[in-house]
Amino acid sequence: MTNRKLALGIGVGYQDSFENTVKFTKSAGFDGCFTGCNRDGSDIAEMAETIAKNGLIYQSVHSPFTNVHHLWEEGEEGEHQTDLLISCLNACQRSDVPIMIVHPIIGMDRHTPNDLGIKRFARLVEAAEKTNVMLAFENVENLEYLDKIFADLGNSSSVGLCWDTGHEMCYNFHTDIPGRFPGKLIATHFNDNLGITDPANVTWHDDAHLLPTDGIADWAGIMRRIERENYSGIITFEITRNNKPDRHTHDIYDGLDHEAFIALAYEKACKVVSM
Ligand SMILES: [Zn+2]
Repeated sequence: MTNRKLALGIGVGYQDSFENTVKFTKSAGFDGCFTGCNRDGSDIAEMAETIAKNGLIYQSVHSPFTNVHHLWEEGEEGEHQTDLLISCLNACQRSDVPIMIVHPIIGMDRHTPNDLGIKRFARLVEAAEKTNVMLAFENVENLEYLDKIFADLGNSSSVGLCWDTGHEMCYNFHTDIPGRFPGKLIATHFNDNLGITDPANVTWHDDAHLLPTDGIADWAGIMRRIERENYSGIITFEITRNNKPDRHTHDIYDGLDHEAFIALAYEKACKVVSM
């Protein structure tokens, strides 16, 4: 048991219904959950209803990220993708979801953060300032984009940090992410992995999203950093039971069905937050 509130990302890799995943998340013992959403967030209201019906907190919505690179590029698509993010934000507001997670970039080979991108993200931040929804920018590949967003927009009270403990190891070469953006931590994606397995070729295949303690993360050190940041928010876990292509890290979960996997996630979540 722990005094901290714990939440789970709903996309855990089983092809079961949303309703069942929410139900198993509640019965395992979690206090809340987070979800993704469709391109304009029009599915958030219905998910919020199911989550509330099951007595869970809707901790955050993870906004779509597969097209987020367009925000940094010339052209109408960048404006269109910004509009879609704003529409997801407004859907969060309507359903009382307090945090929207945003990836600053996608793609290993992109290294050109620029003022055009900041202009687009500033539009999103201005929209957030008119709501009760906080934007949590997440550490992903290529930290220079996150650096630029915090340097130029980090003074807004609507801008916070989502700390992904797995990305820190497999993309960010063990950079201390909450230490890099002090006072900004408002959400976590706790998960484990085996770090960068080939430094000459960093790929998303290392981004395993294992259960905590099933990789190489220093969980006692992670919890010391949570204390150092005086973080008292919900601790959220983002894990999957599926292997990345050509990997076998998740074979250890082969015997577990959907419900048992989520129960094990809760057990391990409680263990690490007590460290
Ligand atoms: Zn994450």
